Amino acid sequence: MNDTPEIQPPQLAGVIGHPIGHSKSPRLHGYWLRNYKIRGYYIPMSVRPADLADAFKTLPKLGFRGLNVTLPHKIAALQLADTSTDRAALIGAANTIFIKPDGSIRADNTDGYGFIQNLHQNAPGWQPKDGPAVVIGAGGAARAVVAALLGEGVPKILLSNRTRQRSEILAEDFGARVEVIDWNRSADAMEGAATIVNATALGMDGQPDLPFALDAAPRNALVTDLVYTPIETPFLAAARARGLQVVDGLGMLLHQGVPGFENWFGQRPEVDDALRAHMLE
Ligand code: NAP
Repeated sequence: MNDTPEIQPPQLAGVIGHPIGHSKSPRLHGYWLRNYKIRGYYIPMSVRPADLADAFKTLPKLGFRGLNVTLPHKIAALQLADTSTDRAALIGAANTIFIKPDGSIRADNTDGYGFIQNLHQNAPGWQPKDGPAVVIGAGGAARAVVAALLGEGVPKILLSNRTRQRSEILAEDFGARVEVIDWNRSADAMEGAATIVNATALGMDGQPDLPFALDAAPRNALVTDLVYTPIETPFLAAARARGLQVVDGLGMLLHQGVPGFENWFGQRPEVDDALRAHMLE
């Protein structure tokens, strides 16, 4: 008989995608693990779509407490989970997985939470109820943004997307406060807007710029971009040049990681200037 007390194994979490090399999440969670001196590991894992179900069965047995999920697994992860949060179900995709002690898997989506926290932290006077929001884009990230803005009491969302059908589906899913506008009318829709969001991939390094002028935007409008490579997109630079308040997309990435880290490692992490500087190194 061995009387040696069992030493607790390190806590494990990670990120699953395909490919995974580009993910900034290991840098983010690695910083927090070091900063809080936690005996844990956050591991990037490249998993092919055909292997996702097997990974979801195996990782709980290996002691993982949870995962982030990135492209192309966000929708499949929600479908494979045993349970999900209301917000993940509403968005239709998961970015965070909690593995319960019994091995069951709960899917969450923290992108909308990260989006809102970023705006409150970096634009403290921002009042989402002050006026309509213009959201450009209707992909997975736009769904999270729309859900979050509605949750904050935005009176109306004017939604445009290159592929109109996708914005119409989104509007149907989210109800009467979301109004679809034509892609070519996006610039006009900014008149009277309190919040203007680029939730497309346009403006990202290697992509064309968002083709809309901000001339109609009110002086007190807040402009934000989900794209954070470059950190100041041409859209944000144009907004800044007009004297509008701007918030870049990096803070959303940092804040969306908070609920997962807290659940897996038992410490609510801070999003502060030192973390931001570390991510920009
Ligand atoms: P997605 O589901 O693939 O959707 C892409 C969106 O971009 C769609 O609205 C798409 O329009 C639009 N788009 C792409 N290329 C376009 C083009 N050439 N012209 C016009 N529209 C174009 O991607 P997603 O997950 O929603 O992500 C969207 C962006 O948000 C990405 O840049 C992503 O990196 C960023 N993001 C940032 C964070 C953060 O933490 N800051 C989190 C999530 C996502 P169609 O429907 O017409 O194709």
